[in-house]
Amino acid sequence: MNIQYKKVAEEKKKSIAILGSTGSIGTQALDVIRANTDKFTVEVLTGGSNADLLIKQALEFNPNAVVVADESKYQYVKDALLPHDIKVYGGSKAISEVVEMDSIDLVLTAIVGYAGLESTIAAIRSGKQIALANKETLVVAGELVTELAKEKGVNLYPVDSEHSAIFQCLAGEFHNPIEKIYLTASGGPFRGKDSAFLKTVKKEQALKHPNWAMGAKITIDSASMMNNGLEVIEAKWLFGLKAEQIDVIVHPQSIVHSIVQFIDGSMKAQMGLPDMKLPIQYALAYPLRLNSDFPRFNFINYPQLTFEQADTKTFRNLALAFEAMNKGGNAPCALNAANEVAVAAFLADKTGFLEMSDIVERCLQTIQYIAKPSYTDYTETDKETRRIALQFLNS
Ligand code: NDP
Ligand code: MG
Repeated sequence: MNIQYKKVAEEKKKSIAILGSTGSIGTQALDVIRANTDKFTVEVLTGGSNADLLIKQALEFNPNAVVVADESKYQYVKDALLPHDIKVYGGSKAISEVVEMDSIDLVLTAIVGYAGLESTIAAIRSGKQIALANKETLVVAGELVTELAKEKGVNLYPVDSEHSAIFQCLAGEFHNPIEKIYLTASGGPFRGKDSAFLKTVKKEQALKHPNWAMGAKITIDSASMMNNGLEVIEAKWLFGLKAEQIDVIVHPQSIVHSIVQFIDGSMKAQMGLPDMKLPIQYALAYPLRLNSDFPRFNFINYPQLTFEQADTKTFRNLALAFEAMNKGGNAPCALNAANEVAVAAFLADKTGFLEMSDIVERCLQTIQYIAKPSYTDYTETDKETRRIALQFLNS
């Protein structure tokens, strides 16, 4: 198991840095903090380009520092926060610098995509506890990141609902070997559809997730089942598992968030209504459970909870992610980069839904394999894969 779970101080308020505070996870984390001001303070907020929301959040939560990654918005944010004694920085590099502040206890990594890797590594390197939403960090560089976390005594508390479920099932069982885990998948808006249908779908359909309201990238990943593929790789690194110990099972109601099977055959599942605030709160408050007014699950409203096999023939992304994980090295990094290019192209109406898997497959076949990549190898693989993916898109 790659997480060192030690009891954290419970008396003092936890000082939180939220990277990606203007996104879906970031705003929900601020909802959790707003409801628990006796437990948390906000030390740092960072956004990409949504300057107005970042300013509004800063005025409400009064952090020590704010970073806007989009440098063209720096002066605007600085001017707005000047009278309020809040430090303002601009550019991506500044995110990796502010996470080193001694006053931070825990960093919530909620930037989307590869863009979240560098600041997560910087936070771990400076010994900050991590609430990990940015799953791409472990997909791209799981070995390097988990080794660094171990070396620095840093815990990676999962925010992703499936991984939070596994983590919650493991509480009190950290030394009991896991036989297997079942990651649940909703199946997304296109569950049960065939390739002929998927060929024609547009982003407006793919962006309508049946159970979860999330950022655009992860919503497309959920529709294409790449999200589940990324989650398999994330689980491998978080819980130190082999490929054959991880199964994905489609559960359209999204009530059972995932299941652990122990070596005696006993299975534990974590359940609840689909609401990301719960796993966010669990990761921020661990080892405590805090009161909440989140809507409660009622069995009578769900007379049936169903489970089915994932269709990896139609949704090839899941099979491609398993293939990349089994290959190891820089293959998952290439999978992620190709997927980010493919999803951006799909959202810009520049490629079809099924072609996204073609792009990922082509990149996995083309990229030069590196068995034990360094950080520089990952950045090079990311760059080169994006080049190949764009070339393929434009051919
Ligand atoms: P969103 O797109 O809603 O938010 C992304 C955040 O990252 C925003 O604050 C955005 O800023 C910021 N951002 C985007 N690009 C950059 C960049 N290049 N540099 C710095 N900041 C940037 O994404 P989600 O909140 O949905 O997802 C965040 C992460 O959490 C993802 O890795 C996702 O896989 C994971 N996750 C999300 C879940 C969900 O329910 N949403 C569930 C499980 C995991 P701005 O908007 O200001 O431009
Ligand atoms: Mg998830």
